[in-house]
Amino acid sequence: MELDSLYQEVILDHYKHPLHKNLSADFSAQVHHVNPSCGDEITLNVMIKNGLVENVTWEGVGCSISQASTSIAADLMIGKSLEQALTTVDSFSKLMSSKGTEAGDEEVLEDGVALAGVSKFPARIKCALLGWMAFKDAALQSKV
Ligand code: ZN
Repeated sequence: MELDSLYQEVILDHYKHPLHKNLSADFSAQVHHVNPSCGDEITLNVMIKNGLVENVTWEGVGCSISQASTSIAADLMIGKSLEQALTTVDSFSKLMSSKGTEAGDEEVLEDGVALAGVSKFPARIKCALLGWMAFKDAALQSKV
């Protein structure tokens, strides 16, 4: 898999120094998601209060794409309104289904655009989406 080298560095950096990787004791919802095709696994906690994503923490094992992507997603969601956060997840999902034709909006996705190239590799898209889908699942559970 070949990705732009600058982007590769962003991914590697998140993989080596993952953000918010340490499950908090306080959460409004906890989910466990797996990507059996690659063996990626994450547990993700969200704390959502009054429509605001106050915290996202996680633990996981798996390939560099899945772990870096979860780090990027967690960091991006914290401080957003639930609505903004879900829109951001949709924007990332759209990027992942673009088959390499889209670069992603850096204003919205920040480091997430580093994963744009993954959309050319169908086998790895689930790796990239794992953390984002876990967040969405947890966020929708917290809403109840
Ligand atoms: Zn993977």
